[in-house]
Amino acid sequence: MFNKAMQHLGEERSVIRELFEYGNQRKKIIGADKVFDFSIGNPSVPTPAFVQDEIKRLIAEVPPERLHGYTSAPGLPEVRAAVSDYIQSKFGAPMSASLVYMTCGASASLTVTINALCEEGDEFAVIAPFFPEYRVFVESAGGRLVVAQSGKDFRLDFNALDRAITRRTKAVILNSPNNPTGAVVSEEELKRLALLLERKSLEKGEPVFLIADEPYRELTYGEEVPFPMNYYHDTIVCYSFSKSLSLAGERIGYIAVSPLCCRAEDIFSAVCGAGRSLGFVCAPALFQRVCAAALGRSCDVEEYRKNRDLLYDSLTKMGYECVPPAGAFYLFVRALEEDAVAFSERAKDYELLLVPSDSFGVRGYVRISYCVSRTVIERSLPAFQRLYEEYRKN
Ligand code: PLP
Repeated sequence: MFNKAMQHLGEERSVIRELFEYGNQRKKIIGADKVFDFSIGNPSVPTPAFVQDEIKRLIAEVPPERLHGYTSAPGLPEVRAAVSDYIQSKFGAPMSASLVYMTCGASASLTVTINALCEEGDEFAVIAPFFPEYRVFVESAGGRLVVAQSGKDFRLDFNALDRAITRRTKAVILNSPNNPTGAVVSEEELKRLALLLERKSLEKGEPVFLIADEPYRELTYGEEVPFPMNYYHDTIVCYSFSKSLSLAGERIGYIAVSPLCCRAEDIFSAVCGAGRSLGFVCAPALFQRVCAAALGRSCDVEEYRKNRDLLYDSLTKMGYECVPPAGAFYLFVRALEEDAVAFSERAKDYELLLVPSDSFGVRGYVRISYCVSRTVIERSLPAFQRLYEEYRKN
């Protein structure tokens, strides 16, 4: 009667959403200030004033029929040109407006790109821990997700990648800065990854693509995020303004296919076809224009840095183990027992909502989203302390 796989997907809410909904219920019962909700990655730093000013300016100056009407399917020509110019001037990478496709955030960027590439029998390699929706995007496109574990301190493990990338691999999905660890892939790692992908492409006789998922590019605490197109030709960047400009609800981002990609124009046609078949055409018109005016700018990252420092310093002082995140707004903390789900349940007794790591493809950790107000972090610290004491006693 209807698609059971889709029903299952709709009913099986993600662990993150489940915790978030639980938090909302709990807040109604005991009061919002008593629940420490670290579940979801909803930006807490306000959308910058320059973004709101630009929205007001556009509303005042552009006639409504132009401002809110359909754009061409891949986006407004001037916006695609602005993105292309930005990529060329900021990163020194070749780019062309004709290879930029405006979309609805990184989710649409990824799902369109994966559908554009995926053929029967294809595999997509991801590096654990990874954003759980990759599995949904890849499997819905008919591909198979293959997981390569990361190494010490969540650096790339090239032996694991070597094993995971086979003749069936269509692409590797790389996310830096990373959700959930905050790790930033260094230039040296990217160079080694490029060499590996070049070798694998030669063995395969066609390219193994690199899909760079970059919604956190601007959210870093001093570290450079090397631009993947500058290291590997067959790269497709999936970008989103959700986090950098705190615009997660407006659903805006882009796909940029490197002109150095093998058959770049054909790939771009496949991107347009996938966008069409999935209904991701003509991204929100107002926000295409807003974002074109804000390229390369970001919200106040210092606010996230203060949250990171407070949380990292306090938790490690208590005895928790975690790697200091170089970017994004997540702390990936070792659970105090092997079973992260059980640990997350125990944390709920202290009103701490921490996401167990299993759906990120690793065991024994929890993710703390520190895109919350500072007072939530400050008030949560005694609860973290009590949780730690409970485990120490037993
Ligand atoms: N990729 C990663 C690594 C993410 O963390 C997220 C959102 O949290 C997305 C993609 C999806 O981003 P968007 O909200 O722009 O669709």
